[in-house]
Amino acid sequence: MSEENSDAGLFVFSVSPPIQSGQDTDAPGLSELSERDKPWDKHKYNSDRVSDHYAKSRYNKYSQRTKSCADILDFRLVPEASDGEYKLKLAAARFCRVRHCPICQWRRSLMWKAKAAALPNLPMETFIDVEGKSLSSIA
Ligand SMILES: [Zn+2]
Repeated sequence: MSEENSDAGLFVFSVSPPIQSGQDTDAPGLSELSERDKPWDKHKYNSDRVSDHYAKSRYNKYSQRTKSCADILDFRLVPEASDGEYKLKLAAARFCRVRHCPICQWRRSLMWKAKAAALPNLPMETFIDVEGKSLSSIA
């Protein structure tokens, strides 16, 4: 883990991927540093499993990409707006963009979730089903 001051007065951390079996490292897993970022470890573990499956198949070129997906995550400490405490926020990462990569699928789902949350609250009468009926009658 490295630490340095950035231009904006924030700290930048480089966090190693989660501890993998057989790997001799003293680097802490991300879940040890931040409870909120525990899903990274789970998805990285699953990504490594998918990589192993790709390695045994004719799509082995995806194995290396999936294996190195999100190997280095750069986080910044940013103050929380509500209570002023600092929290880690992802500043930069390199993703493989392989269709079946668990990390990339998870990140993609977070993107769609954020987009859906940014939509205005519309009344159910504005939504119709494939037959043209209002969805408000279902709810
Ligand atoms: Zn990926």
